[in-house]
Formats: sequence, C-alpha cells, structure tokens
Amino acid sequence: MRPVIDVLVVGAGIGGLTTALGLHAAGVGVRVVDAVDALRPVGVGINLLPHAVGALTEFGLGAELAATAVPTAGILHFDRHGNHIWGEPLGLARGHHWPQYSLHRGALQLILLDAVRDRLGESAVQTGTAFVRYAEPEGSGALRVTLRDVARAREFTVPVRTLVGADGLYSAVRNCLHPGEGPPLWNGVRMWRGVTEWEPVLGGRTMVIAGNNATTKLVVYPISREAETRGRALLNWVAEVRFPVHHHGAPGPVDWNRTGRLSDVLPHLSGWRIGDLDVPALLAATGSTGRILEYPMVDRDPLPWWGRGGVTLLGDAAHPMYPVGSSGGSQAILDAWALARCVALAGADRLGGLRAYEAERWGPANAVALANRAMPVDEVLRAVAERAPEGFARVEDVLTGEELAMLGEGYRRMRGSW
Ligand SMILES: Cc1cc2nc3c(=O)[nH]c(=O)nc-3n(C[C@H](O)[C@H](O)[C@H](O)COP(=O)(O)OP(=O)(O)OC[C@H]3O[C@@H](n4cnc5c(N)ncnc54)[C@H](O)[C@@H]3O)c2cc1C
Repeated sequence: MRPVIDVLVVGAGIGGLTTALGLHAAGVGVRVVDAVDALRPVGVGINLLPHAVGALTEFGLGAELAATAVPTAGILHFDRHGNHIWGEPLGLARGHHWPQYSLHRGALQLILLDAVRDRLGESAVQTGTAFVRYAEPEGSGALRVTLRDVARAREFTVPVRTLVGADGLYSAVRNCLHPGEGPPLWNGVRMWRGVTEWEPVLGGRTMVIAGNNATTKLVVYPISREAETRGRALLNWVAEVRFPVHHHGAPGPVDWNRTGRLSDVLPHLSGWRIGDLDVPALLAATGSTGRILEYPMVDRDPLPWWGRGGVTLLGDAAHPMYPVGSSGGSQAILDAWALARCVALAGADRLGGLRAYEAERWGPANAVALANRAMPVDEVLRAVAERAPEGFARVEDVLTGEELAMLGEGYRRMRGSW
C-alpha cells in the first residue's frame, strides 16, 4: 500500500509550481505531476502584475525575477498609423509596492521549477505522468487517483488526501468535476506571436499597443533584463487578427506551441510603423531567425463551483481567460497564494480550507475572465478607428474626456482589484 500523498498538484505550469512553493512554505506535503516528458522553456512573453510579483517575492523569488524580467514602466496606445491615443504608468512608476514584470514564460516556469526542486527535492515534480481520473472510495478518507506513465502507457493508482487541478485549458481534473463541457470557446481572433532581439522601443520598458480588436491589433513589449543590460531589447510581439468565427471553423485543438506562418500574418500589418518601430521588419526578422507561434483566442464560461470534497481547481483549469489584460499568469499565482494561505489557516480542517480558498478566489478570478472577454478598452479603440480612419492630430478631437478615462477604467477591470 503506497503512503497517502497529502496534496497532489496536477500540472507543473505557472499555477501548479507556485502552489507547490506556497504549500511547502506552509508546512504541507506536496507532489506535482505533469504530462509532458520534460519541462522545456516553451512559450513567449508573459506578464506579472504587481500583486503576483508580491506573492512570488514572499515566496523568496524576488531576486531571480529582478535578474530575468523587465520591470515594465508604462503602457502606450496608438492607432494603426502610429498616432498616440493614451497611456499610463505601470508597476513601480504607478506607485505600486512591487514592479510589474514582463518576461519569457519559459524563463518564469524554470525559475519556479528550480525553486520547487531545490526546496522540495528533485522527485517532487514528476514529469511524464498524466492525471487520468479519481475516485472517492467510501470510508477510506483518501481519494484514489489514477495516473498514467506516459512513456510506458501504463496506469497506476495513488492514494491522495487533496487533489489540486492546475492542468490548464484542457484540464482533465475539471473534466471529472464538470464532464461534457466541450471544447474551449473561440472569439474569432487568431494570434501570431514571436520573440526577437531588436532596438529598444519607446524608452525600452514600454508595452506598446496599436490598432484595435475589430480588425488587427499589435502588442509589443520587451521581456529580457539580460538583453537590456547589453543595450538591446528582446521584443515579444503579438498580432491579433479578427476573422469571422466561421472563417476556418472551430480552431481545433488549442496548442500553445503550434508554429504559425509569417506569410499569414504579415499582410495584416503591412506598412505599420509605431514611432521608430518598423512592424513588418520586426515580424520578418522573427520569421527568419526564430519561430512564429499561432494561437486562437479562447476561453471558457465561468464554472458555478470549482471543487467538491478533497478536490479543487486553480489557474487556467478553473478560469481560462483571454490573454489580453496581463492577467492569466497573475491570476493563477494569486490562486496559489490564496490556496496555500487558506489550507495553512484551516489546519486539520482541510476541506474547510479548500472551500475558503474557493470562496475567496471564485468571484474575483471570474470577474477578471469576464472583463477580459468584454475587452472594454477595445470599445474605445474601435471608436478611434471609426471616427478617424486616416489618423488624427489631436486625440481630444476624436475621443471625449469620458472615453479617454474609460481606457484606464477598462484596464482596472481587466487586471482585477488589489
Ligand atoms: C506550453 C505552454 C506555453 C504557454 N505559453 C504562454 C505564453 O507564451 N504566454 C502566455 O501569456 N501564456 C502562455 N501559456 C499559458 C499560461 O501559462 C497560463 O495562461 C497561465 O500562466 C496560467 O497557468 P496555469 O498553471 O493555470 O496553466 P498552464 O501554464 O497552462 O499549465 C498547465 C500544465 O498542466 C499540464 N497538464 C495538462 N494536462 C495534464 C494532465 N492530464 N496531467 C498532468 N499534467 C497536465 C500541462 O503540461 C502544463 O504544464 C502557456 C501554457 C503552456 C502549457
């Protein structure tokens, strides 16, 4: 008979690894499994809002983040011709206690993974091990969790006191709790993403957004402190292009690592220039030196509840959201922070701790997911394009003061309150 695992976290992504760090710090035994054969630094840029940076700093990762990430100083919006619409400071420049960081998602995952292996031991994270299902045998007090050794295609069962599903958009744990949900929901936007080294843009620590989501929108920000120290910028770019939802049918299985084609995205940004940034040249350079990724913009409807008994959900498994408000990773980290605190405070009342976590996070996380779906900022950006399709000299001639204020308010909703 195998010993009971106190907490089994399914998924060694951003949320799952942060959960392991938090629970370990709270004195709770934890193991993590992930289906992939090895955790490689895949993905492109990701943003951490100041509250999430605060949580990771509490977990002792402040120095690693500062050495790796760019502390984003502000956000600037332009129309597709490069005319300035609006901007605001971010992170420390906005008066927050912690910076807002932009970094490579793979670098963040490896910082978390190194910390977990260092503190919990090498065997705490078991890759090549997929969650399959769980059962609750009556009277045993433990869940029977079925895992699959992916390489050997062999299933085995472990006894578990608490099961945390941090297994992302296609969460198998979520599917056990809420079967028959169907595929993720696509809004018709396809995103091409890439990373390439370039000249610093607009002061070097700026998140640049141009266009709007009715047609084409571009997001560019630097993600490497190391490149910055060499006077360069490792630029992450995302081109969001809207198609009629029936254009290519449903997006098919959503894969963060799918290769996209330069020739598909380039025509949508032909002639775009934002300040000194020659957008087609940036995209072409990525196509020639690295990989372009393509990903549909998807989410799921909010769930009525996240957990039952000794099982709960966290991060994208609980509340997948459009990656538009810098919130996906940050909300997963806030979940992990809250779960560790609630479980620690509840002591022997583990089920009470799980329900307290859900009561704390269900409302705020779903509110952010729904605000990201509504994208209030884009309503104003679309109005700019409709009223001044050929550009403008003064934004005050195009937008009212109320509409300009709506941009800041829209972002506040998309980031959540803290
Ligand atoms: C490969 C990858 C690349 C990404 N790239 C980006 C990016 O460039 N920019 C960005 O903003 N966001 C990216 N994301 C999404 C982003 O990480 C999340 O939106 C956010 O950080 C919330 O994280 P999460 O831990 O909830 O989920 P995720 O980070 O998605 O992690 C989920 C983990 O669960 C594992 N898993 C899935 N099913 C099972 C199973 N049955 N059994 C065991 N393990 C399982 C997956 O392998 C994965 O490691 C990426 C996600 C992945 C998985």
